[in-house]
Amino acid sequence: MLVTGGGRGIGAATAQLFAGEGAKVAVSDLDEGPAQEVAGPIGGLAIACNVSDRGQVESMVARTVKELGRLDVLVTCAGIIRDNLIYKMTDDDWDSVIDTHLKGTFLCAQAAQKHMVENKYGKMVFLSSTSALGNRGQTNYAAAKAGLQGMARTLAIELGPFNINVNTVAPGFVETRMTKATAERMGVDYEAFKLGAASQIPLRRVGQPEDIANVIAFLCSDESGFVSGQNIYIRGGP
Ligand code: NAP
Repeated sequence: MLVTGGGRGIGAATAQLFAGEGAKVAVSDLDEGPAQEVAGPIGGLAIACNVSDRGQVESMVARTVKELGRLDVLVTCAGIIRDNLIYKMTDDDWDSVIDTHLKGTFLCAQAAQKHMVENKYGKMVFLSSTSALGNRGQTNYAAAKAGLQGMARTLAIELGPFNINVNTVAPGFVETRMTKATAERMGVDYEAFKLGAASQIPLRRVGQPEDIANVIAFLCSDESGFVSGQNIYIRGGP
């Protein structure tokens, strides 16, 4: 399996869970350092790759197939936020978020499907977000995360005949560097930020990366073999 953005947060938890269940894992991230930190202890393959660059994505997928033998599972976690209200959002805020999430996932899925189609087997899970439903200050991110759900539904239709399942998961608040960065930018203490978020969540806690990894693992298992083109919100409530 190949996980992008696997050097931290949800991607790292996913890589560790899959490795624990016996999968051969390629951990990819923007920089080699975080990818290696996760891949090392699980005996995985670390690959540095900027997912918005076609050449880098194609060589990441080729290397994964060469060194792991095949590519059955793709999980795309690489992501950034560049929040701003619409009147302050720059072209760069827009382009960098759309390029990382939407173009990045498109390039990874395109490169991966070649191998999955040949093998007549594959599982893809893309990281959407509750922000797909709309979130103040996130015109770019919300558009990208809603777009990923449409991308997954479309690929589920195109690739279903080749026994490839494509789904998205849409987390709410998960304790990772991404939500820490949001608190920092807002000038709020992270513990207070988490408590505030938890008070709005029916289960009264924020998510942990493992909460998301568990659902991703289910969507890549035989038990969910008839689930495709779906999105699962993982937010401690409806
Ligand atoms: P994270 O801890 O910041 O991990 C994201 C990883 O993606 C980082 O290691 C980052 O590298 C990497 N990355 C950024 N741009 C990249 C690029 N162009 N190419 C390759 N890798 C790149 O964030 P996370 O919270 O685990 O988020 C994982 C996914 O879940 C993201 O798609 C995010 O949007 C989504 N999500 C998160 C939450 C949440 O509450 N945390 C909620 C809903 C959805 P650098 O650190 O070097 O930038």
